Amino acid sequence: MQNLLDLDLAGLKAWLAQIGEKPFRANQLLRWIYQRGETDFSAMSDLARVFRDRLPTVAEIRLPTIVSDKLSDDGTRKFLMDVGAINLIETVFIPESDRGTLCISTQVGCALDCSFCSTGKQGFNRNLTTAEIIGQLWLANRALGFDPAGERIISNVVIMGMGEPLANFEALVPALNLMLDDHAYGLSRRRVTVSTSGIVPAMDRLREACPTALAVSLHAPNDALRDVLVPINQKYPLAELMAACKRYLDKAPRDFITFEYVMLEGVNDSPAQAKELVALIGKAGFRCKFNLIPFNPFPGSPYRRSPRDRISTFANILIGAGYVTTVRKTRGDDIDAACGQLAGQVQDKTRRTRQMPPVITQPHEGAS
Ligand code: SAH
Ligand code: SF4
Repeated sequence: MQNLLDLDLAGLKAWLAQIGEKPFRANQLLRWIYQRGETDFSAMSDLARVFRDRLPTVAEIRLPTIVSDKLSDDGTRKFLMDVGAINLIETVFIPESDRGTLCISTQVGCALDCSFCSTGKQGFNRNLTTAEIIGQLWLANRALGFDPAGERIISNVVIMGMGEPLANFEALVPALNLMLDDHAYGLSRRRVTVSTSGIVPAMDRLREACPTALAVSLHAPNDALRDVLVPINQKYPLAELMAACKRYLDKAPRDFITFEYVMLEGVNDSPAQAKELVALIGKAGFRCKFNLIPFNPFPGSPYRRSPRDRISTFANILIGAGYVTTVRKTRGDDIDAACGQLAGQVQDKTRRTRQMPPVITQPHEGAS
């Protein structure tokens, strides 16, 4: 049984050809599934009768199940979704005055073990499928719907939830294609942002396959510190990462890289480190912006959030050097939906979590 949510337009056409159907039906199917949110084949009224009757025998539209849906005081909404075998992932909606952003997960847990990240501390179980990635957007769209002007409430997608998206490249790209495809969600390339901890070869592949906006989790101005905070740096150090960022922008010179930088008190937040960062980026020579993220604590975490004035001093040094710099507002922390607090429920296969008890969000707690 083919789950249609696993296929982008090209995949759907190939599958239709394989089962002896006309490839142009792919466009019709995408419109029904993603634009109209239909999962019942018999309701897809403009499909030829014979094809409509055949579909349930060869295909299905199988989504994750929402097991809880919590609303924060600030309007942030966190969906906990079941992807089978007691694995739960989190999807977060963040409303702002000019946009509505959905933050999507790509893995159950994460194997990269950044020292300040709750997801990383949970360990890793498996990659999500394309259906499970795009299914988060499908379900959140159904829950949130349209505004009074008929526009979708979800206008932007950030791939910044649980997991390292570029470590799940094969499933990620068809999901991105569906976000961009005019027959599916039709979002512009700039409204879809992939956030990576810096898997260099996959950054090059993404540029070729689907060059969406790119955010890079930097967090340190030198290799010695980044090796500790973001261990993947030991494999792809800063010089290689910077070169990959520059290559990423080759195809879209008017774009920019967003550098995310988590503010950890006394670890990476001094004025001297801000200046070191300016020197690092100045040498690299491409367009970029900074997004400073106040650290969001979680049980057992060894760090503290930098005080507000330390964050402003750091930001002002970057701004003074000519870089657009924003400080991310902490949203949804009352429901553990803030950056780095997403924990879901992960059946860890790395055995790493023995060092630290997992933070488990009860699936039915506060469900509405
Ligand atoms: N794996 C990808 C995307 C998911 S993490 C990546 O690392 O980029 C999304 C963002 O949240 C990253 O910038 C990450 O560094 C940041 N983050 C992780 N833990 C955090 C925490 N406890 N407080 C604040 N930000 C955190
Ligand atoms: Fe994984 Fe990103 Fe968390 Fe690092 S910050 S452990 S890459 S999810």
